[in-house]
Amino acid sequence: MRVRQSCCFLVNLKETLSSLQNIGVLLDLDGVVYQGGSLIPGAVETIHILQHNNIPFRFITNTTRLTKKKLVHKLHSMGLSIEINEVFAAPHAAVEYCKGREYTAIDLVVPDKEMKEDFSDFSLNVESPQAVVLGDMGHGFTFGLLNSLFKKILNGAELVAMHKNKHWHSGSELTLDLGAFVSALEFAADKEAVLIGKPSPYLFQLAVKPWGIPFQSIYMVGDDMVGDIGGANNVGMKSVLVKTGKFRKGGVVRLGEKPNYIINSIADLPNLLQLY
Ligand SMILES: [Mg+2]
Repeated sequence: MRVRQSCCFLVNLKETLSSLQNIGVLLDLDGVVYQGGSLIPGAVETIHILQHNNIPFRFITNTTRLTKKKLVHKLHSMGLSIEINEVFAAPHAAVEYCKGREYTAIDLVVPDKEMKEDFSDFSLNVESPQAVVLGDMGHGFTFGLLNSLFKKILNGAELVAMHKNKHWHSGSELTLDLGAFVSALEFAADKEAVLIGKPSPYLFQLAVKPWGIPFQSIYMVGDDMVGDIGGANNVGMKSVLVKTGKFRKGGVVRLGEKPNYIINSIADLPNLLQLY
């Protein structure tokens, strides 16, 4: 009896280990890994455990306010030891999209001028662009800017929006995000935008492409019911909602999306994945 039990235990252990080797993890940044300028407790330990167990992971974010280099620098300065290729943001997916469409001339509308580096393959801010690539300009969204973009779109430019988020958590309160301005341009020009960031499948698919792991074995951890949870559900990944960042009691029911798992914070992820 005892032999049979230990055999079963070994088989189960073997199955668990082989399945563990075949999972991947996508982590949203804002509200999951950090909030404002501080890491969420448990983030460093969770990343160490993923690294220790050789679980492939990537941070995917809709943020359009920082270049890839600055984003990695920000994470390093907060105490996270990660590689540049472990961060995947909407602007990088936008570059891939525009290359795929064989665009050569685009209007890049982002707050950080240094982001031009990430778009060095294109002629930027020409008179008649093939696409308007739009990020969150925050206070830089003026009537003049929106009107000039509206005219370019009327003249044939495709509106490529980094995302269409409703709001983001600036540290102390919810703040208006890019989505309202994308909607304004779509409405005025009577033309639908192409959405690059979450919940569009594009960012998810591109981020996990190198892994070759089936989507149903990939866990997407996020605090946004639409972008993270809805996006993961749409592509068939396992969605994990954290109760930090944008999480609001009742939001799960109100928005109709259903996460596969709900955990208190990123600190509980190793436990969910049975990693130690
Ligand atoms: Mg978030």
